[in-house]
Amino acid sequence: MTTRRSTIAIDGPAGAGKSTAARKLAAELAYEYVDSGALYRVVGLAAQERGVDGTDPEAAAAMVASLEIDVSEGASGQRVLLDGRDVTRAIRTPEAGERASRLAVLPAVRTALIARQRAYAARGGIVMEGRDIGTVVLPDAEHKFFVTASVDERARRRHAEHPEEALEAIRVAIVERDRRDEGRAVAPLRAAPDAEVVDTTGLSLAEVVDVLALKVRRPPRP
Ligand code: C5P
Repeated sequence: MTTRRSTIAIDGPAGAGKSTAARKLAAELAYEYVDSGALYRVVGLAAQERGVDGTDPEAAAAMVASLEIDVSEGASGQRVLLDGRDVTRAIRTPEAGERASRLAVLPAVRTALIARQRAYAARGGIVMEGRDIGTVVLPDAEHKFFVTASVDERARRRHAEHPEEALEAIRVAIVERDRRDEGRAVAPLRAAPDAEVVDTTGLSLAEVVDVLALKVRRPPRP
């Protein structure tokens, strides 16, 4: 078993099961869990509320600099505060996710959020999950995983979480989100060259966590 408190980077597309797997892996290792998407979603929510969009990068950057964001992991899961207000649920709407994805293409927004993420990781013993953790945020992470699954499987999983939305609409939104996250000029979604790709299609959550935990605990190569 790994005794050193290392840094684990988990990246992958929306709906690949990485959030739940990353959280459970962190719990199993008694590590801290950081969901970087939550930070982007807070920015998306704030933009929605303040009428800021991606067409004015300076206004977006000024807005991000002014936000007080606090993310903490408690017994009942992650709690996210924006300027002291609990936005844990509000950031999970599809609209906040869409806005997050639009603002995530702006370099000034990314730079500000990356600084926050590195501060979280400074002490080690962390599982950080997102789109660019292994490639940009924590390039020196000891363990890097790129967790993925087929578009159909990801759409089915999202549909199970949000049965009120039509499966086909979810599928289209996933393809569009992938295209934007993979195609942006700054920090596009891709596996780091030294990341292990884990395809979770057909695997249960428990199986995904087992695969990741096994790889983390494996003794380092001589
Ligand atoms: O992971 P989640 O779906 O909550 O993230 C919302 C959006 O935030 C993503 O679609 C992506 O555009 C952006 N994001 C990012 N880099 C990260 C995490 C999220 O660009 N590290």
